[in-house]
Amino acid sequence: METERLQKVMANAGVASRRASERLITEGKVQVNGKTVKELGTKVEHQDIITVSGRVVEREKKVYYLFYKPRGVISAVSDDKGRKVVTDYFTSISERLYPVGRLDYDTSGLLIMTNDGELANKLMHPRYKIDKTYLAKVSGIPGNEALKKLRLGVRIDKYKTAPAKSKIISTDQKKKKALVSLTIHEGHNHQVKKMLAAVGYPVEKLRRDSYGFLTLQGLTSGDYRPLTRDEIEQLK
Ligand code: URA
Repeated sequence: METERLQKVMANAGVASRRASERLITEGKVQVNGKTVKELGTKVEHQDIITVSGRVVEREKKVYYLFYKPRGVISAVSDDKGRKVVTDYFTSISERLYPVGRLDYDTSGLLIMTNDGELANKLMHPRYKIDKTYLAKVSGIPGNEALKKLRLGVRIDKYKTAPAKSKIISTDQKKKKALVSLTIHEGHNHQVKKMLAAVGYPVEKLRRDSYGFLTLQGLTSGDYRPLTRDEIEQLK
């Protein structure tokens, strides 16, 4: 019979990160088949019933999707203002999915959707430095100086961004607009918009085209596809 560590099962189920799950265990908030366990090495089997503060932890099959988020959709599982959320696109999927990280309401592009809390926590951790490439339509045409600043890192609020890759994809001299590709591995709030604004080229439209080795190829806005087993292994 396959057994797994309790904190791993909790993290996989999306209860909390593995570290935070360990805290819940040592604080005596976790029960296995009705008995409180405080031992971190505790192993559980699939049929064991885990509760955290009395609530049953759902243990589902893990699923992974690559989603092309449209603009005008919130990267969350619910919205108190009733706006469209990413999970509205997955109503035929029975597992409880959530997005790995966030894209702004008005940003489109690649978002991983999963119920694997452990992988989601890992991918979102700054330590993993996963490259994300964005295509930004900006007002104005950035010159070499601006591109260089983006590459070296720009000061935003209280931090300086890590070196990024930046290049011009196309320009419209008449309308004074450009399409700029920017690759970053950090994930500060509104980072791409802030970086481009900081060098004088406000973003009018933004799309995330890739996440690590994953791209939007073959998908149109609002579509999703399951990740292949190989892709899942590579992400792990
Ligand atoms: N940077 C932004 O400014 N917005 C996003 O949605 C993602 C990255």
